[in-house]
Formats: sequence, C-alpha cells, structure tokens
Amino acid sequence: MKYLPIFLNLQGKKCLVVGGGVVATRKVGLLYQAGAIVTIVALEICEQLQILTKEVGSIQIQQKPFQKSDIQEDYHLVIAATSDQDLNKQVSRLAQVRHILVNVVDSPQLCTFIFPAIVDRSPVVIALSTGGASPTLARLLRTKLESLIPHRYGRLARFAVYYRSKVKLYITDPKARRIFWEKVLQGKIGEQVLAGQEQEASNALDQALITHQDPSQGEVYLVGAGPGDPDLLTFRALRLMQQADMVLYDRLVSPEILNLVRREAEQIYVGKKRNWHSLRQEEINDLLVTHAKEGKRVLRLKGGDPFIFGRGGEEIAHLVTEQIPFQIVPGISAASGCACYGGIPLTHRDYAHSCIFITGQLKDGKLDLNWQALVQPQQTIVVYMGLTGFPLLCQKLIEHGMVATMSVALIQQGTTVNQKVFTGTLATLPSLITKEEIQAPTLIIIGEVVKLHDQFLWFNPSSLA
Ligand code: SAH
Repeated sequence: MKYLPIFLNLQGKKCLVVGGGVVATRKVGLLYQAGAIVTIVALEICEQLQILTKEVGSIQIQQKPFQKSDIQEDYHLVIAATSDQDLNKQVSRLAQVRHILVNVVDSPQLCTFIFPAIVDRSPVVIALSTGGASPTLARLLRTKLESLIPHRYGRLARFAVYYRSKVKLYITDPKARRIFWEKVLQGKIGEQVLAGQEQEASNALDQALITHQDPSQGEVYLVGAGPGDPDLLTFRALRLMQQADMVLYDRLVSPEILNLVRREAEQIYVGKKRNWHSLRQEEINDLLVTHAKEGKRVLRLKGGDPFIFGRGGEEIAHLVTEQIPFQIVPGISAASGCACYGGIPLTHRDYAHSCIFITGQLKDGKLDLNWQALVQPQQTIVVYMGLTGFPLLCQKLIEHGMVATMSVALIQQGTTVNQKVFTGTLATLPSLITKEEIQAPTLIIIGEVVKLHDQFLWFNPSSLA
C-alpha cells in the first residue's frame, strides 16, 4: 500500500489554500464541508470562488502575492492549487519543513497526502484512490459506487446512530445484536428508511424490540422493469432486485433484466402468452401474500410501469387487505421508452399539447373507446396492446373525424436491439404492416408528432444494444 487511507478531523482547524482558480474552489469547498477554517491566498479570485466565499462567511480571502510568512505554524493542512509550478514547489517545501500536511494539485511528488475520489453519503463517506496511478480510473469507480449506494444511505446511518444505545439496552448479547442490526439494515426497516419513511421504520423497530419479533418480516416489492433495455432500470429497482428472495415476473421482462435479479432468488414465471401456461390474476395475488407471510422479500417484476396497464393496482389492493407491507417502484413505461428511442416526442409546442394513453385491446372483436375524446386536435394517442385491433382502430378514428392522413407509428420491441419503427398514416399503415412480420410487443403512437421521427432518423436503433 503506497498511501495509508485515513479520515482527518478538520472541525475548527485552520487550513490554507494557495490559489484562486476553479480547482482551488473545489478544494476550498471540500475543506469547508469538513468544518475547517479556510484561508485563501491568491492574486486572482475566480467568480465561483467569490460566490462560494460570499455564501459562507467563514472563509477568509487574502488577495495578494504569496509570501513565505503565509505558511503559519498553526495550519493543519495546506493546499497549493496555482498554475505556477515554482510557487507550488515553494509552498510544498515550506509546509513540509513545518510538518504540515500538504497537497499540490496534480503533482504527487510534492504532496505528503493525496485527495481520494469521494462518495459522500454523510455520515457514510467512501474515499477511494488508485495511489495516483489513474485519477480517471478512480473517478470511473466512484461513478459505479455512486450508482450502487442509495442516495439516502446517510439517513440509514443516522437512523442506526439514533437507535444504537436503545438496541444495546434491549439486546445485551453482542452476537444477537449484530444479527438484529443486519436484519434491520438489510430488511424492511432499512428499506423504509431509504424510502423516506423514517416514522414507520421507527415504529417497526420499536415493535421488534418490545415483542422480540424478527425485524426481517416479509414484504412485496412491486417493481417496474421498464420496456426492455436494462439500462432503463432505476437504481431503486436494481437494489430491490438484488435483495429479493423470490421473483414473480411477466412475459415483458427481458432475460437481460431477469439476469440482474439476485442469483439465489427463486424465479416464478407468471406472464401471459398464447399457448403458455400462465397464472390467473387471483393466483398471482395469492402467491404474493403466501410468500410474504412466510417472511420472504417477494419481488413482483413487471414490464414498463406497474401502474400503467400493469394491473399493479389490483395486486396492491390485495396486499392492503392482507396487511402485507409493500413498496412500489415506478418504471419507464413503454410510451416514454418507445417515444424516446423512436425519436418521437409525445408532446411538442407546435403539434401536441396533450397525450393520452389507451388500451387497444379488442373485447368480443370490438373497440369500446371514447372516440370524441380521441379525435381532438393537438393530441398524441399512445395505444398499448393495440396490434390485433389496429386496422379497426384506424378505421374508427377516421369515421369519427380524424383525417386519414394523420401520422401513425408502430414501434416493435421498443428500446431493445430488435426495435423497429414503422411509420405511415391512418389510411396506409394498417395494410402496410400486415405485410411485415411484426413481433410483439408493439406500441402505436398516433398524432402529428410522429412526423418528427423522420427528422430524428440519424438515430440508429441498432446502437441500443
Ligand atoms: N406496464 C407496461 C404496459 C403493459 S401492457 C408499461 O408501462 O409499459 C403491454 C403492452 O405494452 C404491450 O402490448 C405493448 O403495447 C406495450 N409494450 C410494452 N413493452 C413494449 C416494448 N418494449 N415495445 C413496444 N411496446 C411495448
């Protein structure tokens, strides 16, 4: 190990920054966040630094040339961030003579310490370093960690601090206490804190302490998996996917996404597809309840968003009746996914001031829709489950007054590598697509906005892999 990682307590300690540019500003900001009393010596002070120092009164600026006497014995830490290498060297030497910690930006040979890349979830702070080998690599790693560690992690730490002595009082055996905390932090209570429900989490923890209940009782995660591209999952979806004990998933959930669920989780396919065995909605509801009551963290993974033509409402209603705790995570719905990846804005100042989502599923071979509402001008219609009824839908819209030349797009397997966009009009597209091999799922977008697709053709869907 070339450098020893430590965390410095700079609360109320005097620190000096030589330099007044953008880099110096970043360092001043960090020192300030760590509670240091910062002095800046610089000939020029950049605008950002001026703004920062105005916002926080406690930073002292000395706008003047640097002098030896500026390095005073009572500084705990000195940073040189000027573009003058000779000056940087001088600052480093003077600080080292006085045994003051010194960092010269981008010159490890002049430093007695280096700055790590930081992931800040205060009070949890992660510092990582490549020992000066590659700051870019450190930054890339930091980005990965940023996406892995929920933004509310600090709240979880504060929650744990708050309850630390109380839990110690109730559970005196250190081993039992460790297991208790593991369950709290990784289970439902931890999830409640991360979801911003501290009050509920507090109640649950108090309850678990008083009744010696297992704090890791089961719950259901109703998670939207987006339209297909795994990159469109939310951080929260991914986190819950990786801590589930079992998963119930739909036909629309792609294998790539399923692959991201915790390996040990039992997988149950409950989707609907012609000629495939599938479960009735009531059976799915019952499965969720049964497994959650057994103490499992049950992941209900759905394509798109669970509350947009996803029957999520029915499942949640059932959980409420059975008093099963749950969390709902929104997903990117096929409408926004297909629209963005297909280059069709759903609303546009010139073409559409509203957007309406409908299901185009046939009931007894008929379409029972509010046609007057649908044929309004300056409106985009997004049709889910509309492939079979597509010719009838176009015919009915024309009958109810929509111009036959209205633009229509049919997006097949949107956001995936197999995405295809077919465009035409109400009059032409139905006959055109019967000639093509259309693969489900498909989404239909009707409205003037579809014309913009041609302008955005530079976008190459095959690069979506
Ligand atoms: N809850 C989902 C919708 C489920 S209904 C959501 O929010 O997206 C199923 C319908 O969604 C399909 O028939 C199809 O119309 C549409 N759909 C879902 N994923 C799609 C995709 N990747 N490409 C095109 N259409 C899709």
